Amino acid sequence: MNDPIWGIDLGGTKIEGVILPSLNEATPILRMRIDSESGKGYPHILERISLLISQMQDQSGLRPTKIGFGTPGVLDPILKTMKNCNSTALNGQPLQSDLENILGVPVVLANDANCFALAETHWGVVKQKFDGAAVVFGIIMGTGVGGGIVVNGKLWNGRHGIAGEWGHNFLDESGGPCYCGKTGCVETVLSGPALEKFYQSISGRKATLKEITHNYLSQPSDDAAKQTIERLALFFGKAVSVVTNLLDPDIIVVGGGVGNIDVLYTSGIESLRSHIFNNRLDVEVCKPALGDSAGVFGAAALVS
Ligand SMILES: [Zn+2]
Repeated sequence: MNDPIWGIDLGGTKIEGVILPSLNEATPILRMRIDSESGKGYPHILERISLLISQMQDQSGLRPTKIGFGTPGVLDPILKTMKNCNSTALNGQPLQSDLENILGVPVVLANDANCFALAETHWGVVKQKFDGAAVVFGIIMGTGVGGGIVVNGKLWNGRHGIAGEWGHNFLDESGGPCYCGKTGCVETVLSGPALEKFYQSISGRKATLKEITHNYLSQPSDDAAKQTIERLALFFGKAVSVVTNLLDPDIIVVGGGVGNIDVLYTSGIESLRSHIFNNRLDVEVCKPALGDSAGVFGAAALVS
């Protein structure tokens, strides 16, 4: 019998841990979370992680032989330090070696979109709809836009550790400047804040994405909501077509708050169909199945 697998998800405010029996079983042996208290700085975050793992050991009577970590950014494969983290206390820190020194076991790190893709592949909607898929593209569209690529059940990280980062592909000048320093990135068009900004720019009114989506469905007089959501569907198809032409995945899973908007699965898919280099569209584009378990489950899958 294989050892149980351990995963830790480092969120902005919480640190969550799980012990799963194996890649084939979805019922955790143990699941725990504590506050990250990340405002107190990097050394304190390390102490909190160490505390959670010792509590997990005490409660389960198990000892990890290695641990997977879901992180807000990625470990630079050359510099061995963290980058692209929105939880900025981690940026520039040698998180992997620090964790290995403190915990005394090997650790594997991956960002949250990669963990999402991995979890949906092994326990979620990919398992249900396309078990054995060779190539999975997992998307998170929320405050930012990210993605992860799973090939034959394993993450594809890439030379720079940025494989799947389609959120910073060029999409359209109308998106304007991106925090990454470029202009018109996918994220500047398809993220939740980008949609709210676009709505305000054409209507002069502030509204949340939830309100915009609601108005699109039930307030035909709100033409700005119609334009915002129709633009989302059009550009979703354009942006995903670039990834589809390159990777030709078996299945695409769309998570995050923007990923919940139903129009992506009707006119968004129509737009994708009309923009790919093929006369029909066979790839399934679907919602995830795991909800907020995906991050911590995916972290555990890193060490399976
Ligand atoms: Zn960008």
